[in-house]
Amino acid sequence: MDIYLRKLDFTPLAAESLPVATPPAGMTMSALPTGSMSSNAMFAYRGGSFGSKREFSMTSFLVRHPKGDLLFDAGFGRNIEAHTQTMPWLMRQITTYKNGRSIGDQLGSSDYPLDKLVGVILTHAHWDHVSGLDSLPPKTPVWVSGAERTFISSRSSMTALVNSFPNVNYKEYSFDDGPYLGFPSSYDVWGDGSIVLVPAPGHTPGSIIAFISLPTGARYALLGDLVWQNEGVDIPAERPWLSRRLVREDDDLVRENIARIAAIHKRFPEIKMIPAHDSIASGKVPVYPSSTR
Ligand SMILES: [Zn+2]
Repeated sequence: MDIYLRKLDFTPLAAESLPVATPPAGMTMSALPTGSMSSNAMFAYRGGSFGSKREFSMTSFLVRHPKGDLLFDAGFGRNIEAHTQTMPWLMRQITTYKNGRSIGDQLGSSDYPLDKLVGVILTHAHWDHVSGLDSLPPKTPVWVSGAERTFISSRSSMTALVNSFPNVNYKEYSFDDGPYLGFPSSYDVWGDGSIVLVPAPGHTPGSIIAFISLPTGARYALLGDLVWQNEGVDIPAERPWLSRRLVREDDDLVRENIARIAAIHKRFPEIKMIPAHDSIASGKVPVYPSSTR
């Protein structure tokens, strides 16, 4: 560890027990890895060393539920060479990428009926989370929080890629279901506690975290880019200055939400925390067509 490491403070979560969830027996979860980017650990989290390389995995998750199948984020798509051009210039200079197969191609080649998808829930609308939308039927609903929909409409350069796609079928939702594990509000997607979305703004104005509860009792939290890698939760630590400026995030809001997640992690270590770009974390979920329940 080096002199730039600064642990964020957090207050332990007082919750007595995990929120109630009654996921149906048919519910499963799979990972769809779509590629990776490679950069230096010093860009990954504050305190990361300059000498070591870091892989940033690009993974989508399929959560099948009797009420409807949902994808979480879209990963790398079919036109990744063109899509990387929408990254900030400096970020292009400090990263290289490895393309895998898009979500549409992985699902399609297994005869998964793509029109069965009730939506893709975006943790946020940055290019590396929407690129794979180009491999899905254009009418597939793309679920975004109201704040993220407004962010997309602002046409900031950070949303250039999603705004370049014609006729995205946005489905906007709101957080009407009350506090959840220290977050002030939530959206219980199927009403059974199996998929609960909470607002976690900062990285983008409408970033979210998705809590998934499976029939065996296994629980996951898809953190999006609140932190990029496990150290962000474990230390806990924010991103280094340069990375924060490159993505133009709100530092105070990100710190507030990292503190919430660190508090949950300490109180309920059984919830598997999955930062969007940590391959060890996403590797805990079996790769499609395998699944866990
Ligand atoms: Zn990302």
